[in-house]
Amino acid sequence: MLPITDTHAHLDDAAYDGDRDAVLERARAAGVTRILAIGIGERSIAKTLVLAERHEDVFAAVGVHPNGLDTLPPERWTFLEQAARHPRVVAVGETGLDYHRLKTNDLEGGKRAQRESFMRQLDLARRADKPVVIHCREALDDTLAALREFGRFREEPGVMHCFAGDRARAEEFFALGYTISVGGILTFKNAPALRDLVRAAPRDRVMLETDAPWLAPEPHRGTRNEPAYTRLVAEKLALLWEEPLETVVERIAATVRRVFGIR
Ligand SMILES: [Zn+2]
Repeated sequence: MLPITDTHAHLDDAAYDGDRDAVLERARAAGVTRILAIGIGERSIAKTLVLAERHEDVFAAVGVHPNGLDTLPPERWTFLEQAARHPRVVAVGETGLDYHRLKTNDLEGGKRAQRESFMRQLDLARRADKPVVIHCREALDDTLAALREFGRFREEPGVMHCFAGDRARAEEFFALGYTISVGGILTFKNAPALRDLVRAAPRDRVMLETDAPWLAPEPHRGTRNEPAYTRLVAEKLALLWEEPLETVVERIAATVRRVFGIR
């Protein structure tokens, strides 16, 4: 069985409440033997930890999403501190910056609040000695600036999930020690720039994800995504790298081990 890891799935999402066990079975059948489930905010983290405790092949990341800062109010911060040290938790996040949905009447206030939360979670990752899973939308330069200011805190500081930047920016994240992960977008017709970037990227700096339930790869684009589809992204990557699927999957398994310690 090919050891494919989906490094970013929102398994706790209500979209799976009706058939979560079947979703996990389909992932296993497709060779997706490891799933990093992302818990963001208090309720989502609690649900994600239960999944990671129940299933041997599910691991957890815990954090606060930049678009949902109110899902873990400041007075509940200790909940996140404790969750980050849970034995099934292999990363902090997703955290990061997302300017796409900020209100224009308080742009600066919104940016400041996201940055504060991001820095605080970087600090938590450093203290817990775990990598960070970073979400970034329309905020590449500020994300780079924040990471530079914070400094490289681990040999493997983490991953830029669903990377959507250009090649020059990717090089800057690589230089800071970060890995990128790519998902369904890699298969989209309108993403030639991402394919070029991934084709040229260092092959030990790329991981795979779904971001399920969103961003389903072709031919499922527009429908509910699920971890099993990581395999379709892996197949696309094998075409881009002009390597056998097995080689690509083994290479990425080594990267996943290095970054998240998942065996
Ligand atoms: Zn996500």
